[in-house]
Amino acid sequence: MTALDIRERVPLAALTTLGVGGEARWFVEARDEATVIAAHGWARARGVGLRVLGGGSNVVVADAGVEAFVVHLALRGIDSDRTDGAVDVTAAAGEPWDALVQLTVEHAWAGLECLSGIPGLVGATPIQNVGAYGQEVSDTVVAVRALDTETGVVTTLPAAACGFAYRDSAFKRDAPGRWVVLAVTYRLRAGGPPTLGYADVDRHLARQGIGAPTLGDVRAAVLAIRRGKSMVLDDPVDPNRRSCGSFFLNPILDADAVASVSARAGDATMPRWPQSDGRVKLSAAWLIEHAGFARGERAGPVGLSTRHTLAIVAHDGARTADVLAFARRIQDGVDARFGVRLTPEPVLWGQA
Ligand SMILES: Cc1cc2nc3c(=O)[nH]c(=O)nc-3n(C[C@H](O)[C@H](O)[C@H](O)COP(=O)(O)OP(=O)(O)OC[C@H]3O[C@@H](n4cnc5c(N)ncnc54)[C@H](O)[C@@H]3O)c2cc1C
Repeated sequence: MTALDIRERVPLAALTTLGVGGEARWFVEARDEATVIAAHGWARARGVGLRVLGGGSNVVVADAGVEAFVVHLALRGIDSDRTDGAVDVTAAAGEPWDALVQLTVEHAWAGLECLSGIPGLVGATPIQNVGAYGQEVSDTVVAVRALDTETGVVTTLPAAACGFAYRDSAFKRDAPGRWVVLAVTYRLRAGGPPTLGYADVDRHLARQGIGAPTLGDVRAAVLAIRRGKSMVLDDPVDPNRRSCGSFFLNPILDADAVASVSARAGDATMPRWPQSDGRVKLSAAWLIEHAGFARGERAGPVGLSTRHTLAIVAHDGARTADVLAFARRIQDGVDARFGVRLTPEPVLWGQA
């Protein structure tokens, strides 16, 4: 039986990128699978909820904290397995995501380069099907090793069982909290070309005079673009650094709803991206700006990033209640102007 080094009433704010919120009632750092399994057993025996914390870049912890057993995943290890031009890279859930991307780019393994600079750990990437600049992890994930907290069994799920969709998966949508991801396998293209076609990245490369970009060129371009939006957390004095990235999802609406938003907008330039299922994705940033909210707008200690309309930033003295009130103000404003209720992207822990 694995001994658990359980701590009580552990402050979580410093373990999240937003930097607000209260304590975990119980907390353990899991450096191996046996600890995760033991933690699950401990929680189940006491009827206590289990929460998994990775890099804390997509969670908002309530000011009152979370009355649950928080397992901070710190499992490490990366393996690769080459077959016929493909390479299967398996990374443990606690591996820092961007270091993994960098490693794959250095090995000329294509498939993750556009996902450079995203904070957090490997284990969270399948949860909301992390994506950016023309790639999503669902393009490359072939297997997810996970603990099923309903049965206590560790199993390997094929990609088809993950139910990936835009910033969504079966893990997040169908059974939140049921699966603890322990490792993820990505099938990459050894020596393959980078993914191109995303306008911002293509423009950036063209401006640099790069005609045939390498994976490294695309990674550098994505990092430069992201830095310009405070979307890379490598500047400790950046006033926009305390955020969850995009606070709202881009809404995906059916044709009738889009026609209604369009009529209310009265602006033919409103961005829209048709989806394969006939629905249309709209830009949450465009809707927020056209509902009258400007970058840098503040409400006391919280506000919109000065460089990215979708990011809500917590400044000194902010509490979770301030962040959530500000988020509601934006949702209400967009709703009143366009009849669309924006959905938050980060997960709220505890009672707001
Ligand atoms: C500046 C900034 C930029 C960002 N840019 C992007 C972007 O471009 N694209 C994008 O998709 N996201 C982006 N994000 C959001 C975030 O970085 C990603 O969602 C990331 O994958 C979250 O990883 P994490 O380890 O920090 O997860 P956490 O915040 O710790 O957890 C997020 C959720 O996943 C669950 N979870 C975490 N690990 C596991 C696990 N091993 N098993 C089961 N559940 C787990 C948690 O319980 C929680 O519900 C950004 C965030 C920030 C702060």
